[in-house]
Amino acid sequence: MRAAVVGCGVAGMASALALARRGHEVTLLECFDSPRPLGSGLLLQPSGLAALRALGLDQAMLAAGARIDRLDGRDLSGRRILDMAYEHWRPGGFGLGVHRATLFQRLYDALSPAGVTVRTGVDVVAVENPAQPRLIDSEGRVHGPFDLAVIADGSASRLRRLVRPRARAPLYPWGAVWANARDLDGQFSGALHQRYDGASTMMGVLPIGAGPDGAPGQVSLFWSLPVADMDAFFAGDLAAWRARALSVWPQAEPLLENLRTPADFSRATYRDVAAGRWSHGGLTLIGDAAHGTSPQLGQGANLGLIDAVELAERLTPGRPVAVSLLRFQAARRRQTGVYQLASRALTPLFQSGGRLGPFIRDWLFAPVARLPLVRGISARVLTGVFRLGPTPRSLVP
Ligand SMILES: Cc1cc2nc3c(=O)[nH]c(=O)nc-3n(C[C@H](O)[C@H](O)[C@H](O)COP(=O)(O)OP(=O)(O)OC[C@H]3O[C@@H](n4cnc5c(N)ncnc54)[C@H](O)[C@@H]3O)c2cc1C
Repeated sequence: MRAAVVGCGVAGMASALALARRGHEVTLLECFDSPRPLGSGLLLQPSGLAALRALGLDQAMLAAGARIDRLDGRDLSGRRILDMAYEHWRPGGFGLGVHRATLFQRLYDALSPAGVTVRTGVDVVAVENPAQPRLIDSEGRVHGPFDLAVIADGSASRLRRLVRPRARAPLYPWGAVWANARDLDGQFSGALHQRYDGASTMMGVLPIGAGPDGAPGQVSLFWSLPVADMDAFFAGDLAAWRARALSVWPQAEPLLENLRTPADFSRATYRDVAAGRWSHGGLTLIGDAAHGTSPQLGQGANLGLIDAVELAERLTPGRPVAVSLLRFQAARRRQTGVYQLASRALTPLFQSGGRLGPFIRDWLFAPVARLPLVRGISARVLTGVFRLGPTPRSLVP
């Protein structure tokens, strides 16, 4: 089968790789001349690590990343608000903090040996004949026809409307700024740490292991901000922010040492994608283009990796591609729908100007989370394994 994948992000690269490994002829199209990862770190869950195992890349990532055993969220007084441990899911369970560039490079380096043709500088703007898709780029060149076109162009997808004209993808009103720092004495190792002051202030530190240059002890530091205040953050000087960050989290001082100007940070915004149907003929959305949401639960890249592996598995020889795509979507939504709903519900408790939500969070979360049933369910949600239906065998962590 001839397949095209649009978008050289985590979901697109994983999809190209999974399809090529199953013997399909795959072309990956990316609008940037030199594709590159955006942002600094992310948390791979046991679910995403299982998908990487299916792609033969889990060991390389385990060697580079930082083991995460728990999520430790506290208020300004140091009182625990969130305390979720991977061992509540399974003894010995863990997540993996990774540098985005490392994940990007491992996936990218695997493409060519698997036989994937990568074409960069190709900005796909239109699709003709969804049943046997031909992709048209901004210079009028035609790519295809293909039997399958996988649209993995991210949460701000411009191609989504070709699959689902009524899809919506509004920006969340809050985003975050991110930077890399070094945790030389390892005081933040082992956990994703967060500090909260109501829902209007959130600072987090995620250990991510070695950077692409091999330097160990990297952490990803993030600070929550309303999207409307981001321009002011990048136009201002960092002194006022440093003072505020240190008042929230004095122990983070060593991490701030090398952060001198706002240019040391990157900006992240997120969209709440409501696509309805993901497929149309031989076209399908995957990754953030299909189900982007806020990163509150740290699942987006993991869900994209699972999409990639599961899509390749569900393309059964002899069955029309359009039918396989409908089955793929039906199976995947039993998982992605849960995470989108949970992210929508939880995000305002951590990123908003509201007072009641964070008050309830601060006084109810920790005691309720200790109830065995709640603890079990929230551990399954945290680890990315929650889905309403069976998990394909190759994706069981
Ligand atoms: C602040 C923040 C923190 C996060 N933390 C986590 C975390 O801890 N764990 C986790 O699992 N997830 C996390 N996520 C989510 C995760 O980053 C995304 O879910 C994931 O990167 C989406 O991958 P993607 O491949 O679907 O899209 P993208 O990474 O957006 O890739 C899309 C690609 O398509 C290309 N493209 C776009 N349009 C076209 C076109 N017309 N033609 C050709 N190419 C095109 C783009 O250039 C890009 O390369 C976080 C997100 C944010 C913003």
